[in-house]
Amino acid sequence: MKKIYFDSKNKKDCNGCGTCSLICPKKCITMEEDEEGFFYPKVDKSKCIKCNKCKNVCSNFNEKKENNEKAYAVINTHKKYADKFSSGGMFFALAQYIIEKGGVVFGVRYTEELKVVHDYAENIDDVVKFCGSKYVRSDLKDSYLKVEEFLIKDRYVLFTGTPCQINGLKKYLGKEYEKLLLCDVICRANPSPKTFKMFKQNLENTNNKRVKMISFRGKRNGWESPNTLIMYEDGKEEKNNVFLNAFGADLINRPSCSKCVFVSKRRISDITIGDLWGVNEIFPSLQFKDGVSLLIINSLKGKQVFNEIKNKIKYKEVDYDKACSFNYFKVFPVYVNRKKFFKFIKKGKINEENFIEMMEKYMKLGFCRKKLKRLKEIINA
Ligand SMILES: Cc1cc2nc3c(=O)[nH]c(=O)nc-3n(C[C@H](O)[C@H](O)[C@H](O)COP(=O)(O)OP(=O)(O)OC[C@H]3O[C@@H](n4cnc5c(N)ncnc54)[C@H](O)[C@@H]3O)c2cc1C
Ligand code: SF4
Ligand code: SF4
Ligand code: SF4
Repeated sequence: MKKIYFDSKNKKDCNGCGTCSLICPKKCITMEEDEEGFFYPKVDKSKCIKCNKCKNVCSNFNEKKENNEKAYAVINTHKKYADKFSSGGMFFALAQYIIEKGGVVFGVRYTEELKVVHDYAENIDDVVKFCGSKYVRSDLKDSYLKVEEFLIKDRYVLFTGTPCQINGLKKYLGKEYEKLLLCDVICRANPSPKTFKMFKQNLENTNNKRVKMISFRGKRNGWESPNTLIMYEDGKEEKNNVFLNAFGADLINRPSCSKCVFVSKRRISDITIGDLWGVNEIFPSLQFKDGVSLLIINSLKGKQVFNEIKNKIKYKEVDYDKACSFNYFKVFPVYVNRKKFFKFIKKGKINEENFIEMMEKYMKLGFCRKKLKRLKEIINA
């Protein structure tokens, strides 16, 4: 049976897309931040007319059937921005196609204060700000409304985001638009903006200078071993993978990610992009330096767009199942110490002065608990 957040009140049933708040005819739903830094809908019951539109529009369901997708290894040969791409630069190729058609590209950028937000770009220089994965839940702001406005004006629109954000947009629009191209990233989790802010603040407090940029996909050790590169206002740089590791370990991620209905081969967009992990085994002779994207075509529209841009990229067809076998197409349970970690943030025991140290400590504790559990299983076997 479908579990809707409004009925279950279980945070795992809400991905935070905000579509319900946009659709409510009485405007009585607001998206409010919880103590972990994630947004959830809150209903003003005094204004609610019980029309159920919010429940019917909820995006946290995957109604897509598995189809025979085609998958490709892609390298964008656009040298100027290659170091900015997370992998092979497939997003940039799609964005260029839309911009050349006079269209608008929606993606995720940092603000001056390094908040992670959705925004739109109408020229290629602004598109570059969307390049590079920010492993933080983005604030969608009024993106869905803006997408609709541009489509009504008959502009081409490329919307990129996590699968739940794509599904939220589809539910909000409620109908197909020929000029809308949807591109999702392969995604199995997304961290809390509050923890990212604390991470940044801790770095600034420790070093007594402003952090100018955080790049999660530093390629100096090679694309396959990404490092988080911290860039300070004085030009100094530092490598610090603690946040990336906590994301990978599921210590700081949105609760809905541990029960995500989109972590699957049933892709809800026209085109899916990701990293082609395992490329050395799949194509041992392929030459690459800055990374290889995995491109999955999910719809006829996706296929048509690919046919129009394929002469501008280097690509090779890849066995879909094999490519996916190296990637994350399953959900991970929440981390053993997650609850305690956030409880201590709430109490102020974990704060901007000790955040990185405590993140490391909690991950070590979790690692020991996992080992102990495994040891008990072996003894009892
Ligand atoms: C939260 C998250 C988790 C991911 N997990 C995986 C994974 O498990 N396996 C995998 O193969 N790939 C994953 N990816 C995708 C991967 O990081 C690259 O985006 C992908 O390889 C495409 O590379 P590119 O060179 O074409 O993209 P780039 O040129 O780097 O473009 C990045 C694209 O990602 C979008 N984006 C950036 N940050 C966010 C964000 N916070 N939320 C939504 N969209 C964002 C941008 O708008 C742009 O469209 C994840 C991405 C995100 C954002
Ligand atoms: S039931 Fe209708 S009026 Fe009430 S919160 Fe939901 S959408 Fe709004
Ligand atoms: S529509 Fe989105 S924000 Fe509203 S309950 Fe469903 S998943 Fe949560
Ligand atoms: S794992 Fe699922 S719920 Fe979490 S951000 Fe990705 S698509 Fe959304």
